Amino acid sequence: MAAIERKGLRVNLSTGEIRGEAVEEQVATDFIGGSGFGIYYLYTHLAPNTDPLSEQNKMLFVTGPLAGTNAQAVSRWLVCTRSPLTGAFARSSCGADFGAWLRFSGYDFIMVEGRAEKPVYIHLSENSCQIKDAAELWGKDTLTTQQWLTERHGKDTRAACIGPAGERLVKYASIASARRTASRCGTGTVMGSKQLKAIAITSRKHMQLHDPEAFKTLVREQVRLMKASKGFHHHTDVGTTTTHDITNPLGMYPVRNFRYGQQDEFERLSGEEYRKLRTGDFGCYSCSSRCGKVHHVPGGPYAGAHSEGPEYESIWAFSGPMDNRCIEATVAADQLCDDFGMDTITTGNAIGFAYELYEKGILTRQETDGLELTYGNHAAMIDLIKKIGRREGIGDVLAEGVMRAARTIGKGAESYAIHVKGMEPPAYEPRGAKCLGFNYATSNIGASHGYGYAPQEVFGSPIPRQVDRFAEEENADIVIFNQNTRAMRELGICCSFASLWGWIPTLLDKLLLAATGIDRCAEPGYLQLVGERIVNMERAFNVRNGFRRADDTLPRRILEEPLHTKGAPGEGQMIRHLDAFLDRYYALRGWTPDGVPSSQKLEQLGLGFVARDMP
Ligand code: SF4
Repeated sequence: MAAIERKGLRVNLSTGEIRGEAVEEQVATDFIGGSGFGIYYLYTHLAPNTDPLSEQNKMLFVTGPLAGTNAQAVSRWLVCTRSPLTGAFARSSCGADFGAWLRFSGYDFIMVEGRAEKPVYIHLSENSCQIKDAAELWGKDTLTTQQWLTERHGKDTRAACIGPAGERLVKYASIASARRTASRCGTGTVMGSKQLKAIAITSRKHMQLHDPEAFKTLVREQVRLMKASKGFHHHTDVGTTTTHDITNPLGMYPVRNFRYGQQDEFERLSGEEYRKLRTGDFGCYSCSSRCGKVHHVPGGPYAGAHSEGPEYESIWAFSGPMDNRCIEATVAADQLCDDFGMDTITTGNAIGFAYELYEKGILTRQETDGLELTYGNHAAMIDLIKKIGRREGIGDVLAEGVMRAARTIGKGAESYAIHVKGMEPPAYEPRGAKCLGFNYATSNIGASHGYGYAPQEVFGSPIPRQVDRFAEEENADIVIFNQNTRAMRELGICCSFASLWGWIPTLLDKLLLAATGIDRCAEPGYLQLVGERIVNMERAFNVRNGFRRADDTLPRRILEEPLHTKGAPGEGQMIRHLDAFLDRYYALRGWTPDGVPSSQKLEQLGLGFVARDMP
């Protein structure tokens, strides 16, 4: 039986041209889908050095070949573009239903090109695709936007949209679907620059699978393995609302703009305290884990605040950077960011940066529009989020991200700007979890846990081997393994939490084969090879845009200041051997000492056409 047909949809907002395009068989075999299609089509269609916010930039909304099926936790979707925050490749993932709906529409991806003259949205249904006027939607928050689209196009409609932050080009605007977000890298900012408010899909078609009977049997096995795994039941019960109960005692919970690795009075923000505020659960398409925990604030200054979250990263973003211990404020802050459509991780970092500058006298009360940015002041944190989302006063400066904000503020502020390639790090202290730290340094998208998460350091996972989390160049192989593995799972596109449920190593290849009919999926080691191919091509994308070894670095604080953990492990840790790490990492990857994929490596990965672009 032949492999199933794969196709993409190209929508040009400048010309109004809309056309479908078949994916060539060789491309489908070499890149499978998801993260593979994301980098392949961006690399081959976007000219080097394109201004991310120009008409020429392109956006790919990509789903995977398993999306929309009844397989579990595989219906996520990605946005790939050139990031306005970093200038590097952007790969930002999201859950909810949109990935499944994109597959229902019959497409593996939508490539958005050009820029509309006025606010528009794209409506895709089973029989048509139209660019429609979005004047009524412009200015509306993400939830209201989605409700409007459902009322207009019917209950079988799902949308991905931006909020007011994306419209105002806040550099770290997110794209929302339900209350889930593709939040990193400023993908919502690119959408705003194109005056594209939303993509709405109305469809409920059956999925075309290569071998439906085999697929059904594999899904039964997947569910059996999941149900037998402790990780699945724990995650179903608490989501990620207890992860900080692990990372804080380990000394890897960044506090006060990455000065400390542990927060005091942490019991006020424990998983049990979040459970007291919980009012429900939310899940992505075909995932029985339903790990989104909905929280409601019943009284006090934040009475009525209501959020599908915060999950671990957002709990941290609104507690660690500004040393806030008011749990209700974290719920209110999460809701605000979701309404505005802003990345919580970068928002929290930008606020923590401002608090430190205020403490050091670099920002005065006059410059903060009268806000007193003293640690623990959660009311000021809430005010700052609103100011960033509206680009008002100091919020306009912070809306650029910490790297650009530091340049604007001056007076030595750059010394306290915590970012890699312009993107702010997530909730793991790089000196206390060094595989993650080196992953931040070498990731092709900037500081992200989503690029090469290190379960070995956080949960003690022994795969592929156990690690000492304070070792440096000795763990270069682990950083590579984690980055390649993540790219491989996003071929699916599997949820990262599913990696703890035991089915991926034995079933991902078989599910992909049964879904697509691409025989090579079943070859031992083939999916890992494609994962490595993706990371190399993403690196080549960055090299073509001027990135080199000097960009694979970490903030001054991480390299020069010892970590303080208040008695937890990791006291005094710094990243001491970045150069030795990079030498080893590049050598193991087959890259030059300047961080450029060698011709030999690219040829070996079947990327000869990329090798010709390298210096
Ligand atoms: S585990 Fe959570 S985030 Fe992952 S697919 Fe399921 S509901 Fe979505």
